[in-house]
Formats: sequence, structure tokens, C-alpha cells
Amino acid sequence: MADLSLRSVKKVYDNTVVAVQEFSLEIADKEFIVLVGPSGCGKSTTLRMVAGLEDITEGELYIGGRKVNTVPPKDRDIAMVFQNYALYPHMTVYDNIAYGLKLRKFPKRVIDEKVREAAEILDITELLKRKPKALSGGQRQRVAIGRAIVREPQVFLMDEPLSNLDAKLRNQMRSEIIKLRQKVNTTFIYVTHDQTEAMTLGDRIVIMRDGFVQQVGTPQEVFHHPANLFVAGFIGTPQMNVFDGRLVREGSRYFVELDGTVRIELSAEKEERLRKCGVETQPVKLGLRPEHLTLTDSGNAVCAAVDVSEMMGSAVHIHVSACGKDVVIVVPLSEEEDGDAIPLGTPVRFTFRGSAAHVFDVETGRNLEYPIAQAPEPAPEPPPTELPAPVPVLEQVPEPVPAPVPAPEPIPEPVIPQSVFDPLPEIPPEKLGDPFAEDGEEG
Ligand code: ADP
Repeated sequence: MADLSLRSVKKVYDNTVVAVQEFSLEIADKEFIVLVGPSGCGKSTTLRMVAGLEDITEGELYIGGRKVNTVPPKDRDIAMVFQNYALYPHMTVYDNIAYGLKLRKFPKRVIDEKVREAAEILDITELLKRKPKALSGGQRQRVAIGRAIVREPQVFLMDEPLSNLDAKLRNQMRSEIIKLRQKVNTTFIYVTHDQTEAMTLGDRIVIMRDGFVQQVGTPQEVFHHPANLFVAGFIGTPQMNVFDGRLVREGSRYFVELDGTVRIELSAEKEERLRKCGVETQPVKLGLRPEHLTLTDSGNAVCAAVDVSEMMGSAVHIHVSACGKDVVIVVPLSEEEDGDAIPLGTPVRFTFRGSAAHVFDVETGRNLEYPIAQAPEPAPEPPPTELPAPVPVLEQVPEPVPAPVPAPEPIPEPVIPQSVFDPLPEIPPEKLGDPFAEDGEEG
């Protein structure tokens, strides 16, 4: 259990690649924070700086009130679960979970207690005698998490722990992690590129792009009040529709105009925010989420033609051409409706409510409802680099331990470098191959 404070943290690799900058965040004790963003935006680097696996170039990091910039990983009281977890194939689940504690010379009785408690939390008690080979991908991932739980860390770090699982297992493990979080009383920082994982797991989400934090907020905040066009497009599925529209101020009232035919007054809440920011009439990027568009017969609506309709079970996603764009409209279905396909070219009209319209600055993409200081400008393009794409996970992996094939008994003592805080190193498949992968299960 610990709070964390990251203050203007910056990471520059090899004096050239700026991976993270101006990263400031206060994380409360027991909070679940998710770092999310596209590949290369600096999520893992941030997590690895917290773990102590990467030096912090500038800025300060506090864990539980203690400045830890130069504290080695093993002394930070942190546990980390990676995407490329690996279990010892020749050990049972019990021994895999117990191994780190044995290395630390915990008494047998304490080890047994901790292993059984972790197994209980993860619902793998009946698997304790099995070898990893006899487990599904999801069960193996639970064992990897169990290994981290028994250490009872102050902070639990997870770097894309589910991305090696297939979609069904991923969904299942996502809910397992929600349950785990309720049972394990600790602070979590979780890295993912998947916005659904971020939305479902995080108390707060940190959305990153090109090394810069774009917005920090609860799932509701980032969904309903995206700070800029990038966040608006990244969070929410299907993606937000963005139109070239116009914001019109008439005294204290604001309207958005679209397609020369539609004029909708914004909600009172939005009008107040815009008034506070002194926003005047201007062209805008108008963002409308697919689920906030409604089909209508009214005249105050955008004319469109259906391109394709996708039956999703509980809703139909109708793709239409309107205002020279592909637009998606989500139409929820009741249990009586079949959602029959709508023929190509069918004319439809759609409208929206003033509370659903998001107005963004045409030049910067900033949400006009935010005062300028609060909404980060889009990150500048990162400088071009000739460096080969790094394989960060390799750096924390010591010499291959264990061998990918069952080792002969007795088990040789693995080499555990002091600089690595987790005595069970992660072994990337590219280095060892995953000795347990079964067809269709992983990778
Ligand atoms: P993410 O986790 O969001 O995919 P990373 O934190 O891994 O992003 O990487 C952020 C940026 O830093 C990327 O441009 C990446 O190429 C670069 N990078 C990561 N690790 C290294 C490294 N060891 N050396 C040089 N550049 C690196």
C-alpha cells in the first residue's frame, strides 16, 4: 500500500529519443491507474521508471513519500507482471508461486500460507499440483499474477498482462483483475493499448501520446469530456464521428451548425463552460459519438445514405455517407427487434442532442469547453530517429532461466542478478519460445 507522486518526469534514451516528458501525476494509495495510448507513446517506459528498470532522466518519483529516483528496483517494494510471463515448466504451480519466497528464505509455514492465500484469491487452488503444461493460457497468467501477489508489494505494476491471450480469455481475465483488485489491497498501475481495458479497469485513466500526457480522468470524464480530438478518437468504440461544423454564439446561447441544414442548441452545462472560456462564433471540429446519433424524420437533421449495416446483437451499427464522410450510427435494439439489414443507398436522416456535441478547435484539436491551460495541446511530432526499434523487455531478462525444456532433477539454482527485483524473470517468446503455447491460445 502506497501513494505515488511523479513530478515532471522525463525519459530520454541514449541522449536522443525523448520517450516521456512532463509526466506529472499524484496516485492515491490503493488507486487503480491505467496508462493507455498507442504503441510507442511512452507507457511502458513510464512504468519501467516506476519499477526502477529505467533511470529517470529528469524529474522526481516518490513512493510512499520516499524519493526513489536512485533506489534499486529490489528495494522499491514493487511487483510487476509482464506480457511475456514465463513459468518454470518443471515446477508445479505451487512451486512456481512459492519460488521467490523460497529464494528469500521465508519459513516453510509462511510460504505455504501465502501461496494458498494467493491461490484462493485467484481461484487456482485445485491447480496447485499441476505443471504449467497442463494449464490454459488464462490459468498460466493467473499463476504469474500469483507469483507477484505473494510478495505483497506496495505497488503492483502490470505491463499489458493480457495481450498474449485470445479475445475470450482476455475478457475473462479482465474481470478477474477487477475481482483481484478488490481482494488485494494495493496500488495498481496498469499499462495497456486497449481502451476497453482502460475504461473497465481504471479508477483513473492516463491517456498518452508521443510521450506527453493528453488527459487524466475517470473513465466517465475522458469519455464525456475529452480534452482534445486525440482523446475523443481514442476513447470509445466505435470511434467518435468528427465533422466540419460551426459554433455560433448568440448572446449567452451557443448553437452548432452542420451541413448547412442542422442547427442544435448546446446543453446548458456546455453553454456555461463555453461562456466561461469566452468562446466566440467560429468554425469547429464537431465530435458526435455513434451512440449519440439518432435516426429521425424531423427536418432539423442531416441527410445521409446507408452504406452498410452491421448487426451486433444488441445494436445495429449503421454506416452512412453524410457531409462527405463515413459516419457510424449505433441504433440500439430491443428484444423484439431483429435489426434486419438496411439496403445499400437507403436515405436516412440523423440528429443529436446538444448535450452530445463536442466542439474542438480546428487548428489545435483542443476541446473548447476547457480553459487553455487545462487542455494539453497535441504533442509535437517526435524527432526522427535512426535507432532500431528497441525490445525493452530484453533488458530486464537475465541469462536464460529456466531452460525451455524440463530440467533434470535436481533443479539447478537459477542465476538471479541483484539488479532484478523479481526473482522470476520474464522470458520473452522471441528469446526462448513459449514452451507452453498451445494452438490458438496465445501469441
Ligand atoms: P509504449 O509502451 O507506449 O509502446 P515505450 O515506452 O515502449 O512505448 O516507448 C516509448 C518510445 O521510446 C518509443 O519511441 C520507443 O521506440 C522508445 N524506446 C523504448 N525503449 C527504448 C530503448 N531502450 N532505447 C531507445 N528508445 C527506446
